[in-house]
Amino acid sequence: MAAGDSPALFAYPRGRVARDHIYQATTGQAPKTAIGHKEYSGAALVAELQPDRFAVERQHMVETQVRARGISDQRLLNAMATVPRHEFVEPRYRDQAYEDHPLPIAAGQTISQPYIVALMLDLLQLEPSSKVLEIGTGSGYQTALLTQLAKHVYSVERHAELARQASDNLSRLGLTNVTVVTGDGSKGLPEHAPFDAIIVSAAAAQIPPALFDQLREGGRMIIPVGPPEAQELQLVRKQGGKALVVMREGCRFVPLISGGDSA
Ligand code: SAH
Repeated sequence: MAAGDSPALFAYPRGRVARDHIYQATTGQAPKTAIGHKEYSGAALVAELQPDRFAVERQHMVETQVRARGISDQRLLNAMATVPRHEFVEPRYRDQAYEDHPLPIAAGQTISQPYIVALMLDLLQLEPSSKVLEIGTGSGYQTALLTQLAKHVYSVERHAELARQASDNLSRLGLTNVTVVTGDGSKGLPEHAPFDAIIVSAAAAQIPPALFDQLREGGRMIIPVGPPEAQELQLVRKQGGKALVVMREGCRFVPLISGGDSA
């Protein structure tokens, strides 16, 4: 189904992005990419020496929850088999980190079910050269996957504490191709636009015009759209400056909270 001729989508407010801090996730170590590559930073080397006791559970998650449900992009499957999801959940939920459901994180927010993360990333069809904007960093788990699939990730989170924790976790894993920003992601990051892909991990009543504006021609955005109780994933492609929207799966996300100060 195609839609998107709504005039609202093309009335672009060009406000500045309100934000408190920018966290550049760096290790201070040699700038080597840690996960999924032969070269390791110091942090990754420590992980290598202490075998990951969750590796078996992680591989099982990939096979039974992701591949078995029709996702076959090998780069994505590799990333999900590599990124330690248990590092992004609170210690008391670690044993459930690879189960087939969402989990609570700090500030009353949620880390999405692994399959929904996989589905959204699959629909984006990222290239190693892609520049990606993520709205709703949350735990940083999806952000970590994005760093494995794209060239650089800009991720915006309105909760300063979540942004700080996510940034720390990403740094600890030696992931350097990511910039975490505290602020209202519904305004995007105009200073870094245009983006090849945009992924929104919180439910919007409608597609934020600023985000569509910051998508490059030919780019893709995935976003849950609808009321707080239930939404629909929408895959938006920008063609000839217009939005081609494909309605996808039903879903339920925490709300995208626009305006006001960062929490
Ligand atoms: N993908 C995340 C899940 C994030 S939950 C993960 O893997 O953990 C959605 C997140 O969106 C929450 O952390 C919430 O604080 C954030 N959020 C809500 N409204 C926002 C806004 N306007 N700008 C940026 N982040 C927002």
